[in-house]
Amino acid sequence: MKFGGTSVADAAAFENVARIVAAEREASPVVVVSAMSGVTDSLLAATMIAVEGKVDDAIASLEETFRRHQAVAKELLLTPKAEKFATLISRSAHHVADLMHAIQQSPSRHKAIQDAVVSFGETLSSGLLTEVLGQRGIAARQVDARRCIITNDEHTCAAPLMVETFTHSEKELRPFLETGVVPVLEGFVGATTVGATTTLGRGGSDYTASLIGAALRAHEIQIWTDVTGVLTADPRVVPEAQTIERLSYSEAAELAYFGARVLHPKTIQPAIESCIPVRICNSRSPGVSGTLVGPQTEASPRTVKAIAHKTGVTIVQITSARMLGAYGFLRALFEVFERHSTVVDVVTTSEVSVSLSLDDAARLAEIVEELERLGTVRVEKGRAIICVVGEGLSGTPGIAAKVFSTISDINVTLISQGASSINFTFAIEEGRVNEAVKRLHEEFFGHEKAQKTQTE
Ligand code: ADP
Ligand code: ASP
Ligand code: MG
Repeated sequence: MKFGGTSVADAAAFENVARIVAAEREASPVVVVSAMSGVTDSLLAATMIAVEGKVDDAIASLEETFRRHQAVAKELLLTPKAEKFATLISRSAHHVADLMHAIQQSPSRHKAIQDAVVSFGETLSSGLLTEVLGQRGIAARQVDARRCIITNDEHTCAAPLMVETFTHSEKELRPFLETGVVPVLEGFVGATTVGATTTLGRGGSDYTASLIGAALRAHEIQIWTDVTGVLTADPRVVPEAQTIERLSYSEAAELAYFGARVLHPKTIQPAIESCIPVRICNSRSPGVSGTLVGPQTEASPRTVKAIAHKTGVTIVQITSARMLGAYGFLRALFEVFERHSTVVDVVTTSEVSVSLSLDDAARLAEIVEELERLGTVRVEKGRAIICVVGEGLSGTPGIAAKVFSTISDINVTLISQGASSINFTFAIEEGRVNEAVKRLHEEFFGHEKAQKTQTE
């Protein structure tokens, strides 16, 4: 059971989580928790201040964050537990202050130290939740996620070492489950084989939950968040988006990858490999069933299940007559991205050109310089990718026509269908993405809204 930042945003939210965990007690849950909402951002911002050499300001900027934990704990805990947690807060504050000094002294280790700093968000939330559960009579124990999630040393977006993670998680957690104790561990946080703290990338607590679920061969992986499951579109853009009752693993993975923040993009992989269902539920409405992700898809009357989008995308196009009839050209091209550790997202090719999209353009200048040796390079910044997802999409005529006629006044620059039969992906200019998603949602799901209103 993984609870996100908004699910532990304040005292009432912690109480709510404790009630949800209590209700599942018979199922021997393992609890994974994110930092309280906004805390990771504050810790990261403080790290940046320290990198600029303003260590005292960095430390001062976190006073409010520690005070917030203190205030929430005060509302929730009686004396002995409140004191225990107060000690954890003051130890954490001291440790974070030391780390801020360390950043100034060894700027080259900044990413490693940053991981150690941000991990305190999850250490505090999991510590507090453990005490809250204990106070409700639920035997719970805070477990250091660094003893379970073992990763490589790519700080800030570390990759788990599966064999080590599975064996360590089993060894650390099984004894608690066998004795009826609920383990509570930090999401997002891991450690290298030599014990250096790492993190799994922003939003990585979902991934922690699925790794632990797979390691323990859980019956179900539950992601508790602030919306009722995966919706037909991002509710911040389309407030009338509806909960999707069932998704296949592939559909959920595509949606997560193409911007549905409700699931970290890597969450589904461990679940697929161990064939464990993933349920996404709303911690504010625990009685409502949310979305169930599993091997089978629902026999849906329509093929489009949802529309995901992401912004901040850069499109790179390489054109070269040398590509025509040549072999080895694409290898040389993709090696450039590999050398700069940059992930390529969507790719389309023609006889003489390749277009591809990047989420992370931090190394763009160096990449373009090398690509120019292969051909003419054109870069389009400020793009968005829209992804229409549904099993059987490619076998259904008319989807592309419907998409493009709905947004016919918006210029589309990169179109991909077929690589996966369940998604239809394209890029547009970022400034028009909300409008495009709203119109597409109305086109594909508007009739459901009308039907619902009629029955009401
Ligand atoms: P948590 O802190 O629980 O991990 P996140 O903020 O990471 O929560 O993810 C939940 C948010 O994801 C929702 O509040 C919603 O704004 C956003 N979101 C984007 N696309 C979707 C979608 N298709 N379905 C549900 N939520 C979505
Ligand atoms: N607290 C981390 C973040 O904000 C991880 C998570 O919430 O999943 O990115
Ligand atoms: Mg999240």
